Amino acid sequence: MSKTKPAKPVLTILGNRNLELGPFAIDEAAQESGPWTHWRLRSDEDGVAWLLFDKHNASANTLSEEELTELDAVLDKLERDRPRGLVIRSAKPSGFIAGADIGQLRGVTDPAQIEAMLTRGHAVLDRLDRLPMPTVAVIHGYCLGGGLEVALACDYRIAIDDASFGFPEVLLGLHPGLGGTVRLPRLINPMQAMTMMLTGRTERARRARALRLVDAVTQERHVRAAVKAAVSGELVRRKQGILGWVMNSDPVRRLLASRMTSEVAKRAPRAHYPAPYALIDLWVAHGGNAEAMQRAEISSFAHLLVGETAQNLVRVFFLRENLKKPPAQAVALGGETKQGAWTGSRVHVIGAGTMGGDIAAWCAWNGFTVTLGDTSANAIGGAVKRAAELYGKIGRDNRRRIRDSLDRLIPDLKGEGVARADLIIEAVPENLELKRKIFAGIEPKMQPGAVLATNTSSIPLEQLREGLPRPERFVGIHFFNPVSRMQLVEVVSHDQVAPDVLADAHAFLGRIDRLDAPVKSAPGFLVNRALTPYLLEALVMLDAGMKKETIDKAAVDFGMPMGPIELADEVGLDICLHVAEMLRESLHRDMPDVPQWLRDKVAKGELGKKTGKGLYDWKDGHAVKAHEEGEPPPDTIDRLILPMLDACMTCLREGVVADEAIVDGAMIFATGFAPFRGGPMHYAHTRGFADVRDKLASLMTMYGPRFQPDPGWDSMR
Ligand code: NAD
Repeated sequence: MSKTKPAKPVLTILGNRNLELGPFAIDEAAQESGPWTHWRLRSDEDGVAWLLFDKHNASANTLSEEELTELDAVLDKLERDRPRGLVIRSAKPSGFIAGADIGQLRGVTDPAQIEAMLTRGHAVLDRLDRLPMPTVAVIHGYCLGGGLEVALACDYRIAIDDASFGFPEVLLGLHPGLGGTVRLPRLINPMQAMTMMLTGRTERARRARALRLVDAVTQERHVRAAVKAAVSGELVRRKQGILGWVMNSDPVRRLLASRMTSEVAKRAPRAHYPAPYALIDLWVAHGGNAEAMQRAEISSFAHLLVGETAQNLVRVFFLRENLKKPPAQAVALGGETKQGAWTGSRVHVIGAGTMGGDIAAWCAWNGFTVTLGDTSANAIGGAVKRAAELYGKIGRDNRRRIRDSLDRLIPDLKGEGVARADLIIEAVPENLELKRKIFAGIEPKMQPGAVLATNTSSIPLEQLREGLPRPERFVGIHFFNPVSRMQLVEVVSHDQVAPDVLADAHAFLGRIDRLDAPVKSAPGFLVNRALTPYLLEALVMLDAGMKKETIDKAAVDFGMPMGPIELADEVGLDICLHVAEMLRESLHRDMPDVPQWLRDKVAKGELGKKTGKGLYDWKDGHAVKAHEEGEPPPDTIDRLILPMLDACMTCLREGVVADEAIVDGAMIFATGFAPFRGGPMHYAHTRGFADVRDKLASLMTMYGPRFQPDPGWDSMR
């Protein structure tokens, strides 16, 4: 949520959620202006003080030094007044505290400064921890990172049903920094504590109770009774048992740590992701001594924070936020308001194949009523079956959502849904004439305000829109496969699209929990254009006799989630071949030849993961790989990655994408481009544009003109 947005008055935000705020009557709470900007304090009739956290000018509570300094002043008063008990609660409906204010973590370079700031923060929470009266955190919604650390410094934690708890710091290349590494392993089973901190996973209220992280789970109407029970000592405090004590002992810690280290190593190499290793080292070295652990936590956090990985991952956090913003053209025309105003609820999807079926399923899962059309009843049946399987996987025990989503997904052989749809998404085979024919048939039936979208991967929108009476309502919404897993979607504009249609597309994607990158209609848009030279170069290497495992290892060592050979199999060799041919035809630049054997494979139906055989054989959804990977020759990674960077540069120079932040965000969220490197353009900056250009030039001398550097490396420096 934007921090600059003015906060809604408490009265209005409580309208749809009645938080039990003790002595604060709702209307008074809205107006009360006490001595503090972010905190409000008042005692109830039992002499228990209720401290409300209501961060000024923000829709969610986050912690920065300012709020902690104020909390320190509140503690002065509490130490003087000595109420019978203290309740800490958030006045925001979104939750307790969503974590640290991540903006504060950005761009810091001096570990000593961070250490000093954290030492002050620790002193405040230690003071809270030491208050002589019983202290109770009442928690609804998110309780993450620094928020959980505040809760851990209280004697009791009472959770509302919807609360969720976690330490997501590791996802930013950090570990908890306000005493969480000290308090959590002392409160709950240390293995569970370490797992929570190492994975960043959040736990729902009931599971948190099972872990002994919270003492009670209740509903708003019982909060007062629960608080009374806690303050009077009737609520049994959940404490660590003897097992926890044993696990925190020296030799056992050492043993457990080596197991944790090997688990972590499977997912995150130390050189790229130092935080989980630092956390394990902390626990092993100081797990038996709280004071030493606290000092070490501060120093470790400060050093991680100024490191490249954490700074790049913090950058990725903001890249994501950037992709959530409405498109520039829409903002210029007041689109921000328009975005909020889009109230579409019905989607019609044409084509129930791989993409259309999955798009329809995902929209229904996210609350839209979806009609799904196809010329083949079998295709629709198959799509509904796949949707049920998907819902079973992602919905697990949420039977009601599964049932409702299936109810909302309506087979529509006759295309009757077109007339009522707010958004129509076309996903029929990649054929210009076919798509145009379909548009001509549906256009007259569409509602005047409806949006017509195409999922085309390669046909220019300028060609598709020909013959449309209202080209301004036409836009590209380009999903990636598999729709439910790929967070990024490209929103493709053309020079006749109306800005509010772009805003509607953006709002729609926000409502189905996808991030969108605005791109202009151009061959391959951004993502396929950048990915294709990378995949093709891997095929050239394969052709020259390099082992596929060796090629993949080079990319994984660089930080990609999987190598290019495995990725080509994942995407489907037929799709790769199609995109490569399309780009070769439409771009005026050298590209590697597609080897004949690849065409033969596709002709034989060996398409990759989906057929069980491609460049690899596939078993149970995994590529079967030889154990001996071999060391890749020194140029391997530059040969793979630099053409991808070069294509990104071309897209920027040609204006296919507006800026580097969109390129970096899109490539990370669509392809998994090594997040700890901060995105391809950020990586290019880290190396230096001149270095990228020179290396491409030297590869060109060695391997041919396909490596010719884009002029942008010079002109856009
Ligand atoms: P697909 O072949 O799996 O499905 C196409 C469906 O359209 C089939 O079920 C077919 O019966 C149906 N169809 C054909 N003619 C029709 C008509 N006249 N009316 C209604 N339905 C009709 O294709 P796909 O892979 O889902 O691709 C669809 C679109 O999405 C293409 O434009 C493709 O470029 C694009 N795309 C594909 C991928 C991918 O990985 N497959 C990724 C992104 C975008």
